[in-house]
Amino acid sequence: MALLQIAEPGQSTLPHQHKLSIGIDLGTTNSLVATVQSGLPTILKDKDDHVLIPSVVHYGKNITHVGHDALPFLLTDAKNTIVSVKRFMGQSLNHIQYKDALPYEFDETSQDIQLKTEQGIKHPIEVSADILKKLKTMAEVSLCGEVTAAVITVPAYFDDTQRQATKDAAKLAGLNVLRLINEPTAAAVAYGLDQKKEGTFIIYDLGGGTFDISILKLHQGVFEVLATNGHPHLGGDDFDQAIAEMIKKTCSLNQLNHEDKRSLIMEAKKIKESLSTHPDVTAKFTLSNGKDIVFTLNRDTFILETNDLVQKTIQPIKRALSDAKLPITSIDGVVMVGGATRMPHIQSEIKTFFKQEPLNNLNPDEVVALGASRQAHTLAGNKSDQDLLLLDVTPLSLGIETMGGLVEKIIHRNSTIPVAKAQEFTTFKDGQTAMSIHVLQGERERVSDCRSLANFTLTDIPPMVAGSAKIRVAFQIDADGLLSVSARELSTNKETSVTVKPSYGLSEEQMIHMLTQSFENAEEDKKIRALSEAKIEGEQIITAVQNALHKDGKHLLTQDEIKDIQNAIYTLSSSLKESDADLIIGLTKNLNALTESFASKLMDQSVGNALKGKSIDKVNL
Ligand code: ADP
Ligand code: MG
Repeated sequence: MALLQIAEPGQSTLPHQHKLSIGIDLGTTNSLVATVQSGLPTILKDKDDHVLIPSVVHYGKNITHVGHDALPFLLTDAKNTIVSVKRFMGQSLNHIQYKDALPYEFDETSQDIQLKTEQGIKHPIEVSADILKKLKTMAEVSLCGEVTAAVITVPAYFDDTQRQATKDAAKLAGLNVLRLINEPTAAAVAYGLDQKKEGTFIIYDLGGGTFDISILKLHQGVFEVLATNGHPHLGGDDFDQAIAEMIKKTCSLNQLNHEDKRSLIMEAKKIKESLSTHPDVTAKFTLSNGKDIVFTLNRDTFILETNDLVQKTIQPIKRALSDAKLPITSIDGVVMVGGATRMPHIQSEIKTFFKQEPLNNLNPDEVVALGASRQAHTLAGNKSDQDLLLLDVTPLSLGIETMGGLVEKIIHRNSTIPVAKAQEFTTFKDGQTAMSIHVLQGERERVSDCRSLANFTLTDIPPMVAGSAKIRVAFQIDADGLLSVSARELSTNKETSVTVKPSYGLSEEQMIHMLTQSFENAEEDKKIRALSEAKIEGEQIITAVQNALHKDGKHLLTQDEIKDIQNAIYTLSSSLKESDADLIIGLTKNLNALTESFASKLMDQSVGNALKGKSIDKVNL
């Protein structure tokens, strides 16, 4: 080692000593990761400077591609390329709309969604975990440190099962979830609305394939979800479809194969995105039969042709306002979220509807991740006085089944979480010694209209006359909105409890199996750590050598030596942009070796300076 650097105790920059927190927007179409750097929420980029990571996973024979790398397989291997997996989270197979139109092969013998891929059966939670792993790795490379803690966002209407599924995915990806927060809440936080005292806000979120409206009321640091509405199949994709139809009509394209249909949609998407900043756009591309297509579209025609889609977003806003019993005039702010809100006619329509300028100075596809990173930063313990810890509310009521197939609500929707509530019940038969507790979620009165979350039985109730046993059922929801339920017979104090494991989530065995598999992938994680350590060491030696050359070292070297060292610095610094740890380590060693004699000359010089004019006994060596 030619040049040594000594760090202050406790100030070491070794990567594994960093504990970094991130915010993740795990989107249907795109996912993002952000962190707070020098007090500012910042979106992190991958090595190619992308901020949006397509939520797409391709399972090839021996290799998994995630994000941009997975996109080409949409054309060539659709069956093994999973898109919009968020729609499958916490759902059973019979919940899926348009199942037959999807290119996937499902395991029809299971109630659970199981996708048959080249790499065997994949559960949606595993697919989401692969996206989360990619984001975690991206953050680790970008921040040169180990990321363990994250805040992940979920739609406000996600129920317990969908939230649990998201948490399980994070666990599989090796992420410690500090909190799941609602997407609209995160968007409001990104705009600093949580710093206000009170207010009622609308979050208008038009993504790739989903449209969500949320009305949030802020009251003393608590965001209450007053209403949610939207459309599960409306988003930027529909505008792409509309442009594709225009191209087909104008260019008389009738019979298109699968590949051409896909490329047509991709071209249409490019045109749409470009029209947000250009008054007209011309696309040129070639079909698989060699036919060249040239198509020009101007913004006015685009606006005219897609006006019905824009209008489709207005109805849900009206419904949400009416559910919350609020007039338009009571809305204090409108937050624009989702890439599709970049379209100017969406902006102007919303401005006209609410008679106010919407909040849109942050990138609409980044706001959710930015807000999440702020919460992660606060929860990781970097809390300042102005940074209030956000509280959320439970989106749906929770209760248990009582006689006659009815639901008795124990925790009502919009209760601030964490929350614990209990209620007493009794037996309905003489001598009844067991009671079955059926936990449900939903707003409806009848069991059949609510979602069943869990079933368990309290046994050993002492036989008594009907109506005299006292059974206390307690519900507890933690800060992530996840529920545990216990039942206690009060005369014997016998208690039975369950942490509610959703019906369509993962079984304990599945989870263990997947975790074991993910440990097997630990090799990949080690490589990433080695890479970031190598990069740091490389950067440190470059800085040290450059400093020495700039100061007073240059005259100690010949022109050739200087040239060799500068060349070595150049190749090492270029390699830092690559992801090859061995190459970086090799080039770092090379620079070290080249500067070895330089370092000893420097040392001699400084010892010489220190000795100058002093007698040997005055020198402390
Ligand atoms: P999601 O929340 O569903 O994951 P995003 O918020 O990332 O999705 O939105 C994706 C959608 O935004 C896509 O349909 C994409 O084409 C659209 N989009 C992105 N940039 C623009 C733009 N400049 N103009 C119009 N639409 C855009
Ligand atoms: Mg989104």
